[in-house]
Parts: sequence; structure tokens; C-alpha cells
Amino acid sequence: MIGNVKGKVAIVTGAASGLGKGVAEKFAEHGAQVVIADLNLSQAQAVADEIKAKYNTETLAVAMDVTSEEQVNAGVDATVAKFGKVDVLVSNAGIQTIAPIVDFDFGKWKKLLDIHLNGTFLTSKACMQKMIEKKTGGRIIVMGSIHSIEASKNKSAYVAAKHALLGFVRSIAKEGAEHGISSNLIAPGFVLTPLVQKQIPEQAATLGISEDEVVKKVMLGDTVDGEFTTVDDIANTALFLAGFETNALTGQTLLVSHGIGM
Ligand code: NAD
Repeated sequence: MIGNVKGKVAIVTGAASGLGKGVAEKFAEHGAQVVIADLNLSQAQAVADEIKAKYNTETLAVAMDVTSEEQVNAGVDATVAKFGKVDVLVSNAGIQTIAPIVDFDFGKWKKLLDIHLNGTFLTSKACMQKMIEKKTGGRIIVMGSIHSIEASKNKSAYVAAKHALLGFVRSIAKEGAEHGISSNLIAPGFVLTPLVQKQIPEQAATLGISEDEVVKKVMLGDTVDGEFTTVDDIANTALFLAGFETNALTGQTLLVSHGIGM
């Protein structure tokens, strides 16, 4: 059956907002028990409570800064303590910083790489350990981007991190196979989440163009139809990958972008 996550336990990082929240909701709708992992516990708890009430399923909220090994391990341990296992990780937490390379603040560069790249390493490591220990196998889904396969101006740290994640996902595929663990990268185009909304005025100022031009030319200019990708498009893709029953797709990237990057 396609997209069968019934009875699965899924940790979603950055799940208090945007794509992560949409993925967690979609999994819960299809019978998974979801763990809402985010920086702020009260925001994560509010989302966990909302999903629990809406889909009549067990949820857990954990405060998890994905750059903290201690918090990552504590969140994964709390998941196993409550649900007995972890079947799916969606490594989704992320930020964006817009600046030309020559003006890019080194602290902001390091922070971005820390969240996207080190955060994905730490959460994948902790979840893979449990998947191996419990002999359950599992699915690791990493939120990449069209910037995993192509560059844009003023996003060097993001482009570097998202390209690196593509390599990391392939490494998981190689090492995870013998344990029944598969991995995939989802590469969304532009989705109107808070992360992208914030970028529109920033890109307009950095590029010296209007906000309308940022949307029509920079964000949607390379799509086939001038349309944004939606949270639901990404959530459905994550559901498909999380519920895919064989290892056939492991290591692969799925572009969900209205044609950007093809
Ligand atoms: P968002 O800003 O709506 O949500 C990001 C979430 O990550 C927030 O809840 C935030 O609190 C959390 N977060 C930030 N730093 C964290 C940390 N250190 N530890 C734990 N959580 C942390 O953004 P979004 O658009 O939903 O983005 C989610 C992911 O999708 C990101 O990895 C982003 O790069 C990727 N993505 C988004 C788009 C898009 O168009 N929106 C496109 C391609 C890829």
C-alpha cells in the first residue's frame, strides 16, 4: 500500500511551523504517532496538542535544538521511552540567511551550517542507533531544497549546506541498507512558509528589485507554470517516502518544485 505509516513512530524536527508541521499532520492523519521536535517547547506542545485532538492519535512534544547533541539524544530517548521505537525521522529544521558572500557574517554562516548539516547528522545518528538496536529498520527523510542541486545568488551558506545534505543522504543509504534503513532527500521549490515570506523583502533589498519581481522572477521564474509548491505537496511526498515498503528508492532525491531544476 502506498503511504502506509499506520502504527509508525515519526520524529519531525522543526515541526512547530511550515513544512515540518504539515508533514507531522499528514503522518498523523494516516495513523502515525508523531513527535513534534522544535526549539520552543510551548510552541511544539501546542502543535502536538492540536494534532492529537484533530486526528485522535498519540503525540509527543520535545524541546530540541538540533545543534545540541544532548537535546537531540534526550528527545530521541524520550520518543523511545513513550512509544518503544522510532521508525521515521524527518530532518526538517532549518533557517535561511540572505547576503552576498563578500558580506556574509561568519557567525551566521556557521549557525546555518550547524542547524542544517550538523543537526541532520546528530538526529540521523541518534535515530539510526535506535533503529539498529531495536531491529526495526526505518526511514530517514531529509528536507533538502532545489538548492541541493543548483545555486542562487546571496544564499551561499544555504546552498552549501543543502548540497552537503544530498551527499549525507547517500551515505545513510549505503550504511543503512544492511539494517533496513533507507534515506531520501526531498527537494522543494518555493513554498510560502514563514521562512520564504521573510526572504521576499530581504531579497528585494539585496538584489535592488521589487518584491513582486522577487516572487515572479527569482522564485517562480524557472517553474513551468509560475506556481508556488504547497505544504501539502511536500507532506504528500514525505508520506509516500515514509510508507514506501522496499529499499528501491533509497538514496534518491525527489524534486517537488513545479519544474525548477529539471
Ligand atoms: P519555517 O521557518 O516555517 O520552519 C522552520 C522550523 O525550524 C521552525 O519551527 C523553527 O523553530 C525550527 N528550527 C529552526 N532552528 C532550529 C533548531 N536549531 N532546532 C530545532 N528546530 C529549529 O521554515 P520552512 O519553510 O517550513 O522550512 C523547513 C525546511 O524546509 C528547512 O530545512 C528549509 O530549508 C526547507 N525548505 C523550505 C522551502 C520553502 O520554500 N519554504 C524550500 C526548500 C526547502
